[in-house]
Amino acid sequence: MSKTAPPATEQEHKPSNFLRQIIEADLAQGIHTQRRWAGSPGDAAHHATAPLDIAKIRTRFPPEPNGYLHVGHAKSICLNFGLARNYQGICHLRFDDTNPEKENLEYVNSIMDAVKWLGYDWNGAPDAPPYQASDYFEFMHRAAVYLIEQGLAYVDEQSAEDMRINRGDFSKPGVDSPFRSRSIAENLQRFADMRTGGLADGSAVLRAKIDMASPNINMRDPAIYRIRHATHHHTGDSWCIYPMYTFAHPIEDALENITHSICTLEFEDQRPFYDWLMARLSEGGLIQTPPPRQYEFARLNLTYVVTSKRKLAQLVNDQHVSGWDDPRMPTIVGLRRRGYTPASLQMFAERIGVTKSDSWIDYSTLEGCLREDLEFKAHRAMAVLDPLKLVLTNWDEAFGAGHLEPCTLPALPHAEDGDNEPAQRHFTIGKEVWIERDDFAEVPPKGYKRLSPPVMNADGSVTPGTIVRLKGGYIIQCTGCLKDANGAVSEVHATVFPDTKSGTAGADSVKAKGVITWVGVADGLQAEVRLYDRLFSEAHPDAGGRDFLSVLNPHSLKTITAYVEPSLAHAKADNKFQFERLGYFVADRVDHQAGRLVFNRAVGLKDNWAK
Ligand code: ATP
Ligand code: MG
Repeated sequence: MSKTAPPATEQEHKPSNFLRQIIEADLAQGIHTQRRWAGSPGDAAHHATAPLDIAKIRTRFPPEPNGYLHVGHAKSICLNFGLARNYQGICHLRFDDTNPEKENLEYVNSIMDAVKWLGYDWNGAPDAPPYQASDYFEFMHRAAVYLIEQGLAYVDEQSAEDMRINRGDFSKPGVDSPFRSRSIAENLQRFADMRTGGLADGSAVLRAKIDMASPNINMRDPAIYRIRHATHHHTGDSWCIYPMYTFAHPIEDALENITHSICTLEFEDQRPFYDWLMARLSEGGLIQTPPPRQYEFARLNLTYVVTSKRKLAQLVNDQHVSGWDDPRMPTIVGLRRRGYTPASLQMFAERIGVTKSDSWIDYSTLEGCLREDLEFKAHRAMAVLDPLKLVLTNWDEAFGAGHLEPCTLPALPHAEDGDNEPAQRHFTIGKEVWIERDDFAEVPPKGYKRLSPPVMNADGSVTPGTIVRLKGGYIIQCTGCLKDANGAVSEVHATVFPDTKSGTAGADSVKAKGVITWVGVADGLQAEVRLYDRLFSEAHPDAGGRDFLSVLNPHSLKTITAYVEPSLAHAKADNKFQFERLGYFVADRVDHQAGRLVFNRAVGLKDNWAK
């Protein structure tokens, strides 16, 4: 079997977690089997005569289109879309655009791209349009009027300050608003005034009438509608009142037939209101039953990055990075440009799992997933990042002046017999090659297996220069070096053993101490290589209210000119490579083009960060 993909059983085996257990129990009890689906979101009447919902579960990913998605969102996407995929369900992409300000089309498009790139279709069909919460404004308004009619909501015209004081706190119950006892008729009239634009921003809110003494402050008559004379990017000027998130979100879930509404832990305290609202609207026959239920999981906290949209925006706006897609950014566009693959992010989401308590995930876990994904997929190539010239002094004598010997190596060394036509890389070796500066040591440290010159010992004997293989080429023996005026090594000299070419009968006729990578001077190509490191020098950049900008890593980007083997002339933007012994690199999707090679280091070969 080919090693290019993990065995099927490994892919199919998903560790269980509390969400899977809930879903499996719900499926076993058939809780959702009687729900109907009219092909589009809607109220109880809309779905009443429709066929039974073919989706066994419905989940959703509901971003606010107010920024680019980051690695935390990737976790939520993989979780919600992954659960739907595993349990024959459907996951919805819904733009939570109930806030008229801050949202724009650039973000809407970038979010759709990110979800697609991660490998998911939404709303049950490959090219389905996403849902938009603002399409439900009419129903939300009707639901609000219904609550007023039932005596379950009132228009409060206290000042914001009074409202805050009267809400009480953890140790003190709330105090009823003087407006709490208004008649239903008066409330209907005032809410209509709010709706028709007669009241100024902030002068009134609609509140659910629940319990001002509730130990859960979220149940002390939460605001459900506010006045905002603002143009909405989708509904224009149709509305000057907008639903609050806590009111809007459960309704969005209900209209879309969501079965499991999965959110992060900070919404736990809002679940009682979610359930209260769903119960009231179910009783009134406004929404289909059983209503959706909310489940909370711990958000992703990743070391060495920040994942607040506001802070990410600050990095971009203050030009600490080149943009949202800077390869150091933990945004999905940044990770993609850095060389991350959808499979590596899915693996990451799977590996970190879902839990109910907050914790930090080490950045190296993310890097490990990328390494694992690329190990069997990324074509190999040789590159020299810190070039030093090596001259094979007997080359002309051995092969003839100017001779270039063709060499090949497999693009994927792990591809096994039976794989189609293993791809080969072609390059040549000649009298001069580039090697890494640190593959030569005049005075070698103990155990050094690379190039070092002959040494004259105290007793007059000579320890010969080291013998190493130039990978895919010949075995050579180091004879010395030249130095520049500053005493720095400027050229290394060696002799070649002519019969030792890799893959020939004589390949093993001389014993080599080690193998080094190299690039021919004759056919090597220059490339710009961007060596990225952690964006922050502290694991928790914004811990304890610290200004995260004060711990930016000044060495997070180093740009160098390297030599790479000629096969990379054909590299296309986004192609990933393992530069042997150096790490995984990707052809930059923005700047790389034919004739201008630009590679980003995605991740090193080993986890070097810890040492
Ligand atoms: P931010 O706080 O950075 O603005 P947000 O949570 O407000 O992010 P939304 O667009 O509201 O961003 O989030 C969409 C979905 O992504 C929500 O369901 C939210 O729970 C989830 N999400 C956001 N951040 C994380 C995270 N760090 N880990 C897991 N899920 C997350
Ligand atoms: Mg949010």
